[in-house]
Amino acid sequence: MAVEITPSRAAEVGGLPVRRALPRRERRTVGAWCFVDHFGPVGRDLAAALQVGPHPHIGLQTVTWLLDGEVLHTDSVGSEQLIRPGQLNLMTAGRGVAHAESARPGPGCHGIQLWVAQPEATRHGEPAFEHHAALPQVELDDVVATVLVGELAGARSPARTDSPLVGADLTMAGGLATVPLDAFWEHALVVAAGAVAVDGVAVTPGSLAYLGTGRDHLVVDATEPGTRVLLLGGEPFPEPVLMWWNFVARTRTEIDAARADWKRETARFPAVRTPLARIPAPGTPWTTPEPEPTIL
Ligand code: MN
Repeated sequence: MAVEITPSRAAEVGGLPVRRALPRRERRTVGAWCFVDHFGPVGRDLAAALQVGPHPHIGLQTVTWLLDGEVLHTDSVGSEQLIRPGQLNLMTAGRGVAHAESARPGPGCHGIQLWVAQPEATRHGEPAFEHHAALPQVELDDVVATVLVGELAGARSPARTDSPLVGADLTMAGGLATVPLDAFWEHALVVAAGAVAVDGVAVTPGSLAYLGTGRDHLVVDATEPGTRVLLLGGEPFPEPVLMWWNFVARTRTEIDAARADWKRETARFPAVRTPLARIPAPGTPWTTPEPEPTIL
């Protein structure tokens, strides 16, 4: 299929403007990837602006990837982890987790946070957190690919995956790269810095380039030096997904229950060690839960 460009939506997280590439009305998921926020780059004056107090998640994994700056992560399973560029934070919510994130003051802040929808087999499981200080890299022509999750060109990330998935950072000084893909998977690109051309279509920061399925390789042309691209892909997610606020579920009833547990501060979402204030859940756009079972 032809490259499909979807503009990101302007949003705000913890005081920082973000470009939300997923979900969009036109494109809800790419594999199990269901949420992509690109924040920054911002300079010293705004670098510490990213301050996200404790908030809950269910049914998803958060993937944090920095290009610049430092962010401190604390969560309800007891993790306290500073992340730097080139490192990976992966938090698995399962049946419930809460976390807080705060950027350290510094010369800048630039990064991407993604969510992965968990499949039925694991989404009711225990919460967990892992940090990877180093990730495998592979050189392909003019690109250095760092594999965040899954496998690319023989390099495999040690990070947990619950469904067939790939996520890789492509760092390009300029020039062409041929990247092998799984033709049964769907793929997309998010440009964090610089610009690329794919099939003659320009892809720049602030959009998602959806590539569909059926490609066994991808030729990326970095049209600017210092280009950074995120390659996302996976087996098209076979389960219906209902996303609301910080929850990934299947039904309104599940989301109502998670919202009530967060509000009542039940043991489902234990306390997070941070000076930041808890973020209250907004009201749901529905007034009564629908009858079960349902597919949305
Ligand atoms: Mn979060």
